[in-house]
Amino acid sequence: MTNAATLTGSEKQINWADDIRRPVIDAADAYIETQQERLDAPDATEKAIARHEKDVKQAQAFSQVDDASWWIDQRHAIASQGAECYVQLTTVSQFHCPTCDATYYSTSATDKMKCSVCGCTTEWAVRVQ
Ligand SMILES: [Zn+2]
Repeated sequence: MTNAATLTGSEKQINWADDIRRPVIDAADAYIETQQERLDAPDATEKAIARHEKDVKQAQAFSQVDDASWWIDQRHAIASQGAECYVQLTTVSQFHCPTCDATYYSTSATDKMKCSVCGCTTEWAVRVQ
């Protein structure tokens, strides 16, 4: 597990979340490695390179999620899909809520979503990463 963020939360949450995220981050690392080989191929087109770079960035995002409770919330999705599929099917982004000033993570791709901290519906949440 390379360069994974230090988890935040209670000690119990952190220990639990660490077990949940480990296979996901390992799968993401393996995925990034595979994608890198494709990027280095001499016949890689510009479009394919751009798509692969996006995929790699998405895979890398998992190791940046430091919120233990977010990982715990993801446990059923990870268990049902398996770590490899989860990594490839899920996009995680960091958002900033303008109402409560919280930074949180979401797998929602839409702009309109419920802030996981204050519960407001933020149509104007700023995607941080
Ligand atoms: Zn909020």
